[in-house]
Amino acid sequence: MTFGVSESILGGFARKGVTKVFRVSNTLSGKVEEFHPLVQHHVRMYTCGPTVYDHAHVGNFRTFVFQDILKRYLRFKGYQVRHVMNITDVDDKTIRNSGASDLVQLRQYTDRFTTAFFEDCGKLRIERPDVVAHATDHIPEMVALIQTLKAKGYTYEKDGSIYFKIAQFKDYGKLSKLDAEGILAGARVDVDEYGKQDARDFVLWKATKNGEPHWETPLGPGRPGWHVECSAMSMKYLGDTFDLHCGAVDLVFPHHENEIAQSEAASDKPFVRYWMHGEHLIVEGEKMSKSKGNFYTLRDLEERGIDPLAVRYALQSVPYRRQLNFTFDLLHQAEKSLARLHDFRLRLTTEKLKPGSNQKVREATAAALQDFEKAMDDDLNTAQALAAVFDWLRELNTAISENELGEQDRQPSLQTIDRFNAVLELWRPAIDSHDGAGSIKLTGGASIEFGSEVDQKIRRLIEQRTQARLARNFALADQIRDQIHEMGYVIEDTKEGIRWKKR
Ligand SMILES: [Zn+2]
Repeated sequence: MTFGVSESILGGFARKGVTKVFRVSNTLSGKVEEFHPLVQHHVRMYTCGPTVYDHAHVGNFRTFVFQDILKRYLRFKGYQVRHVMNITDVDDKTIRNSGASDLVQLRQYTDRFTTAFFEDCGKLRIERPDVVAHATDHIPEMVALIQTLKAKGYTYEKDGSIYFKIAQFKDYGKLSKLDAEGILAGARVDVDEYGKQDARDFVLWKATKNGEPHWETPLGPGRPGWHVECSAMSMKYLGDTFDLHCGAVDLVFPHHENEIAQSEAASDKPFVRYWMHGEHLIVEGEKMSKSKGNFYTLRDLEERGIDPLAVRYALQSVPYRRQLNFTFDLLHQAEKSLARLHDFRLRLTTEKLKPGSNQKVREATAAALQDFEKAMDDDLNTAQALAAVFDWLRELNTAISENELGEQDRQPSLQTIDRFNAVLELWRPAIDSHDGAGSIKLTGGASIEFGSEVDQKIRRLIEQRTQARLARNFALADQIRDQIHEMGYVIEDTKEGIRWKKR
C-alpha cells in the first residue's frame, strides 16, 4: 500500500525550489559546468581500468569508488548509463611480472589478477561495468586506429616501432594545460622509447624484442602502447564522441592527453565532452602507490579485520576532488558510522510505532532528500551528502524515542534509505545468498530471475521480517509474511535458512 510513496508525496516536497542540475568539474574546460549528455537521458561513460599485473591497492580503489558513485548518481538523476572499462592486460609490467613467453601464458597470469580485482570490487560494492574490455581482445581495433593515423600522416616508424608525432596535432596539451616545456619534462619520465624524433612523441606500437609475447599484424610483430588501447576501445563501444571519461589525476598527463590526440586526429571530431579526475589517497604526505611501497590492498585490510564496506565509506567520506589522508583511525571512524546507519535501519524496521503519520517527519525526510541531492549536484560532494543523511537519521531517531513516528512513516522512511543507498551503497542487505558470517542463507526463488524487481522486493521484505523477528516484533513479522503471500509467494523457515517459492 505504501510502495511508491517517496516518488509522489516526498517527491513533491523534494522538488520544490531545487534547480536539480548536476554540475561537474570538467578538467577539459577547467571549470565546474552543468552536465548535459549528448543524447537526452543517456550517458556514455568510459573509465580507465586496472593494469592487472598485481593486486590493486586502496588508493586505486578510491578512484573506482568515485566512479561507481558517479554512475549511481547519474542513474539517481534519471539517466541511463552505458559504462565501459578497459583491462590493461599487456604492458611492460604484466610482461615483466608474468615472465610469460607467449600470449597464452600472459593471459593466464593476468586473468588471475582480473578475477581478484572484480572480487575486491564486489566486496567494495562497486558495480561491474556494462562492458569490460580486455586490451588483448582488441588488437585488430588498435591496429586499425594506428593505420588510420598513419594514413593521415600522424605517425612515423623507427626500428619497427610506430610513434605519434605530436607536433602534427595542434591541440596537444589542451587537457593538461601544459606548455611545450612542461610536456617535455613529463615525457622524459615516459620510459623505454628511443629513436623518437621529438622527446614529446609517444609510442603507438612497440616492436617485439627479446622473444616477448607479441602479435603478428599488418604493422609488423609487436604489441600496442598503453594509450592506444583506451582510444580504440572507448570509441568502439561508445562512438567517436562520448560524454564522460574518468580516471585518477595522474592520468591527465600523458595518458588522457595522448588519448585525445590519437582519437581526435583519427576521427576529426571532439573525443570526450567531460573529463573527471579523482584525487589521490595520501599516506603520510605522499600518494599511495606501488612504487613508493606505502600501499595496502583490500586483502591486507581484511586480514586486519577491517570491513570492506568501511573502506568504501572512508573512501567516499571526502569529495573525490580533495586529497584524502589514509589512516586506520579513518577506517575505525567509518566502521562506527556504518554501524549507526545499520542500527538505524534495524530500528526503523522493527520498532513498534503508533498509528498514523507525522507531518514533521515527512518534512524532515523531504528536506533530507533535497539536501542530499543538492550536495551531490555540487560536483558529487559526498561529505555534504553524508551529512544530510546523518542529520535526517538524528531527527528520526529523536522522533522514534519520543514516540512521534507513525506506522505510516515507516515504509516511506525505509524507501528513503533505499534512495540514499542507491547512490552510496553503504547499507548491506541483511540477507546474502552466500554464506557470510551473520548473514542468512536464502534459498529457493528459482522461478524468478535473480536480481529482478520481484526478487529484490521479496528479498527486502524477508530481510525486514527477519529483523522484525530479531526484535521480537512478531505482529510486524506476520504482517510482512502476509504481504509476501499476497504477492503470490510463500516463505518457509528451514534449518539452512529461509526458503521462498511461488504459491
Ligand atoms: Zn585509459
